[in-house]
Amino acid sequence: MVEIIPQVHQIDGVNANSYLVFEDDGSLTLVDAGMSKDGKKILNYVETNLSKKPSDIKTIVLTHSHIDHVRGVYALKKATGARVAIHELDADYLSGKKKEPLPKGAIGILFRILSPFFKFTPLEPDQKLNENDRIGHLVVLHTPGHTPGSISLYDQQNKLIFVGDTIRYNNGKVGGPPKSFTPDMAQATKSVRKISNLDFEILLGGHGQPLKTNAYQKVKELSATLG
Ligand SMILES: [Zn+2]
Ligand SMILES: [Zn+2]
Repeated sequence: MVEIIPQVHQIDGVNANSYLVFEDDGSLTLVDAGMSKDGKKILNYVETNLSKKPSDIKTIVLTHSHIDHVRGVYALKKATGARVAIHELDADYLSGKKKEPLPKGAIGILFRILSPFFKFTPLEPDQKLNENDRIGHLVVLHTPGHTPGSISLYDQQNKLIFVGDTIRYNNGKVGGPPKSFTPDMAQATKSVRKISNLDFEILLGGHGQPLKTNAYQKVKELSATLG
C-alpha cells in the first residue's frame, strides 16, 4: 500500500504510474490507467486497501494518450462505469481517429516493427478537457509538448501536482520529458516553466518515484537548466 497523503494513493506495481484520489464525497478519481494487465491490480487495490467498490471510481482522467497510460482504460471503464476524461487535443488518439507520431530515431524504427503489439481498444472519451477545467478538486493545466494534449492536475489545497510525463523524478533526480518520445521539446520546456510557477510540495509523475518534499524548488532548478 502506497499512501502519498491520506487522500492520494499510488497503486504499486502498475506501469505507467497510476494514482487514486479521494474526492470530498468519498468517490474516487483514477489518474492514468496503466497497461491492460494493470486493471486487476487497480481494482484489487480499491477493494483491499481502500475498502471501496470498483463503482466508487467515478472518473478516470488520463494525463495523455500514450499507450502505457491508457491501455487499461477500456477494461477499467467497463468494470467501474467511470467516465473517461482526456484533454481535447489527445482525444483523437484515444478514440483511434488519429495515430500517435512514432518516436524519433532508432527507437522509432523499433516501434514500427513492434507496432502490432502496441494495439489497444480505442475509446471515445466522455469528457474532453481544457485549461482550468475541474475534476473534483483537481484543476486541469494544459502542459503540452510531450503530446499535444498532455495535462497536469493541480491540487492547490494539498500542494500536490500530477505531471504525467512532462516531468519525472527518478533516483533522486528531477528531469524533463524523454526526448525521443517528445515531439515538441520547446513546448515541453514551456510547460515545465508553467509548472515551476505554481506552489506545490509534492510532485507525482507518470514514471519514477513520488517526490514528496521541496518539489517546487527542484522543478525551479530543472526549469533553469532547460534554458
Ligand atoms: Zn508519455
Ligand atoms: Zn509514460
